[in-house]
Amino acid sequence: MADYEIPETREFPIIPSIMEGAMAHSTPFVAGEEFQSDMGFPFTEEPGQLIEGWKERFLELMEEKLSKYRSLQVFMDICVKCGACTDKCHYFIGTADPKNMPVARQDLLRQVYRRYFTFAGKHFPKLVGAVDLTEDVIKDMYSYYHQCSECRRCAVFCPFGIDTAEVTMAARDMLAMIGMGQKYSNQIIPKVHKIGNNLGLPEPALVDTLEGLEEEVEDDIGVKVRFPLDEKGAEILLVTPSADFFAEPHIDGLIGYGKVFHAAGVTWTMSSKASEAANFGLFIGSYEHMRQISLRIRDAAKELGVKRIIFGECGHAWRVAYNHLNTLAGPWDFLDQNYPIPQHILEFTKDCLDRDILNIDKSENDHMTLTFHDSCNIARASRIGDTPGSQFTTPRQVIQAVCNNYHDMSQDTIHDQTFCCGGGGGLLTDDLMELRIKGAQPRMEALKNVSKDHGVTHMAAICAICKSQFTKVLPYYGMTMDQIVSVHQLVSNAIILEGQGEEAADSDDTEAAA
Ligand code: SF4
Ligand code: SF4
Repeated sequence: MADYEIPETREFPIIPSIMEGAMAHSTPFVAGEEFQSDMGFPFTEEPGQLIEGWKERFLELMEEKLSKYRSLQVFMDICVKCGACTDKCHYFIGTADPKNMPVARQDLLRQVYRRYFTFAGKHFPKLVGAVDLTEDVIKDMYSYYHQCSECRRCAVFCPFGIDTAEVTMAARDMLAMIGMGQKYSNQIIPKVHKIGNNLGLPEPALVDTLEGLEEEVEDDIGVKVRFPLDEKGAEILLVTPSADFFAEPHIDGLIGYGKVFHAAGVTWTMSSKASEAANFGLFIGSYEHMRQISLRIRDAAKELGVKRIIFGECGHAWRVAYNHLNTLAGPWDFLDQNYPIPQHILEFTKDCLDRDILNIDKSENDHMTLTFHDSCNIARASRIGDTPGSQFTTPRQVIQAVCNNYHDMSQDTIHDQTFCCGGGGGLLTDDLMELRIKGAQPRMEALKNVSKDHGVTHMAAICAICKSQFTKVLPYYGMTMDQIVSVHQLVSNAIILEGQGEEAADSDDTEAAA
């Protein structure tokens, strides 16, 4: 593990004393020509240089966004500096850098807005905190708009609902258009366009992986559970994050989905064309890239002739799917209208549990005491089901249907007040490791407290990014990476399929007879 100063975890949250510039050095790699051009974005010879005429271009883009997105204009105008959001961001709590206060993050753009788009700012800039757009201001924006995971926690506490995530998305998009795109996101998105997933896993590699998984599950439980790819005529298309194909604990979740589909007796398939649920177009604030990624799902669904689309465990993917799939890639009139379009895998599993068609042995999870981490993008931007708050109740109902031991973390750290894992919003990159570790502090604190008070040993999550982030940061806080689990991993442990264990029982009988 690299050597970082790890924030202390305490029994009660304490607002940190301000440390000016504490994270000014934190800045992700800028995308060079290769990645900017793949995205259709402008570039310069050296990553980090601004394009010619950058200032005019930035202001032109800002004017466009202000007229196109009424919310952005309102957010720029209505902040009254009440301070309610200041201590609500996990990056401020973990780093103490005042520019990580949500209001200060918004102000990076607001000060420019005031200077160029308001009467007072044009004529009396100093009086209203308006500043000229300079290269230093752009550098500050690049750094601090990449210290926001677009989690929306601040918006929950703002009396006006100012959504810093939207400001961040707008800022990142404008930065990319003057040559300051982020390398991590901009190298991933073209892989989805060209190959179908963030990892660039081609079809043969996927086939191999899924065949290997079928063998592994059969060896384990003696039942042939299928993990089909590109099977025309299947009823359901599963769109899942590509991390589910290989990463831990994600893959255990994929095994869980397969077992549930098997037990439910439905036909399903994954697609090599849409082998990615993640949609990084959201993170960089690019409507066009978000749309193109979503259209791959539509194409795959049509080509395969499926009737339903189900999304696997991925937070921001579900945010995009739940909120935007219809406008980005609809109409979905060729799908079966009797089911939600799209549907979350937890809705499917909960329905099977409610109908009592899954054979569950909860004691299979008795070696663990669970808690649940609400992923921001699901908690604050979607539902799982059709009732208010179902995004909170559905995962907990599923977990408690398959586990005997469960405790929530402190109320002010769950549901709509949940803390980001620290790696969301396009920040899950090693060049931002210090930020990720410090940003995870509030969640680590809550986890340690529930472990101390209730003996919690594991935390379940339904987001690929959260799972990857926690796997990496748990050891920095004195815990182990296997303490983070997939919700469908718990389902997988508890579900008993027809014929499961019979082979083992038969061979025991044979041995006994011999
Ligand atoms: S959206 Fe989340 S990460 Fe961004 S400023 Fe608000 S609380 Fe912080
Ligand atoms: S809570 Fe809202 S109005 Fe108050 S300072 Fe923060 S962004 Fe501004």
